[in-house]
Amino acid sequence: MLEKPVVKKVAVYIIGVCLLAGMLVVLPDIWFKAHLKKNWNAAESTPTQTPAPGRRHRLCLIFALDGVPYRMIKALYAQGWFKGFYPPGRLISTFPSLTRPAFSKMLIGGKPNGYERLYYNFTTRRLEGATLVNKAFATQSEHVDYHPKLHFLGFPGYIAYVFPDKFTQAALDGFKARLRTFQGDEFIAYMGLSDAIAHVEGEAALNDFLIKISTLLDSVRHDLGIAMDVVLFSDHANNFSVNRRADLSAPLVRAGYQDVAQLRAQNDFVLPQNGFVSFAAIYTAETNAPAMAAVLSSAEGVDFSVYRWQHSVKVHGASGIARIDRRGQRFRYTPLTGDPLNLTGTVDRLRRLDGSDNQHFFHESDWWQATIDHAYPDPLRRIWEGLHDLVQHSGTLLISLKDGYAFGPRIFSQSIVHPRAGTHGALLANHAYGFLMTDFMSVRPASRPSDVAGLLARSAEAKQTGRKLPALPPN
Ligand SMILES: [Zn+2]
Repeated sequence: MLEKPVVKKVAVYIIGVCLLAGMLVVLPDIWFKAHLKKNWNAAESTPTQTPAPGRRHRLCLIFALDGVPYRMIKALYAQGWFKGFYPPGRLISTFPSLTRPAFSKMLIGGKPNGYERLYYNFTTRRLEGATLVNKAFATQSEHVDYHPKLHFLGFPGYIAYVFPDKFTQAALDGFKARLRTFQGDEFIAYMGLSDAIAHVEGEAALNDFLIKISTLLDSVRHDLGIAMDVVLFSDHANNFSVNRRADLSAPLVRAGYQDVAQLRAQNDFVLPQNGFVSFAAIYTAETNAPAMAAVLSSAEGVDFSVYRWQHSVKVHGASGIARIDRRGQRFRYTPLTGDPLNLTGTVDRLRRLDGSDNQHFFHESDWWQATIDHAYPDPLRRIWEGLHDLVQHSGTLLISLKDGYAFGPRIFSQSIVHPRAGTHGALLANHAYGFLMTDFMSVRPASRPSDVAGLLARSAEAKQTGRKLPALPPN
């Protein structure tokens, strides 16, 4: 028989464990709900928010689902989910296929500071952007700089990337409750949780989540009892591969360059380590770019690097070097050695179709048509934009990784966080094909992020006339 003090100790221990487990279950939920509320209040208090007086008759719901691949929505749509919608189309992301640049193009065309959380500022000579500690629990301000009206749902900071399922129900309930009490006529919602589920839990979990979204939209439509126009889209895909960490720093250091936090010497480079994505930006002296791209071309996991060179852009991959030139809206691809973007066949086809003496400069709309189904969709314009015009602090070299590789902090090579379930960022189609669908007009088979802004203007028109809009002409 056990001694009484021992029984007491065991009892206290068991009660303690139960209490702790209870707190672990309950506390994140309470914390997350409190943060959701804080976000709503912040969105409500912005001066741009002008609630319509009286009762609404029609509501436009603009709903961004982070990181959802087109093919998954297409399959669910074919199974009968997302009732009342026109068929989805592809939404080809920016390069890099990352949230900040893609999402800013879709909503108002603003430029985020960097491609991701951290970026290098050549003027202040500092690595800038929120620290991971600040971001870990930050539930707002992510996109507030370019879209203050945004309602955040299901993005409780980076903590969502550790326990995505913990926040699912609270996010869905929060969305519904918020929409029910919303008094404006345009509700712009951003659901970041879908990307966290894709990265951490993978395809089956994301599929379940999307079914919940479909059901949620049905019930919201039913409950609100008013006419509703819905624009549903995602900013990029996720590849759903086991992704190994590519070590980009080591081969450069072996070649004599120095991985630093502040550029001082000629051989210095800054390589911000952000999430675990199939893209990286290097900040260094422009004259270093060709030799660094040559080193990286044989590094494990690197597909190719791109950099500005004189008035052109160069692409350097394992299979060779090519040059991209631009004249207004026309682009030219010139393989110098090999064909790193695998575009020789496309150029031949465009040349046969065009027939004029244009020195192989083809209009961006011709490149778009010719490469929608290519492994690198719309590659020239996206690469050009990524290096020149996508973010405020452009990288010197942009690195697109092969499928199955990602770059981020060294912790991602540890077994506890590896393998991850999905990633994105690269130029590749399976990283870049987001989706776009609406319930008031059919969309093109493929759209660009900037097309979403145009569609939102048309949805405002639909709201005013109270009619469904006709389909856009094919692109
Ligand atoms: Zn995203």
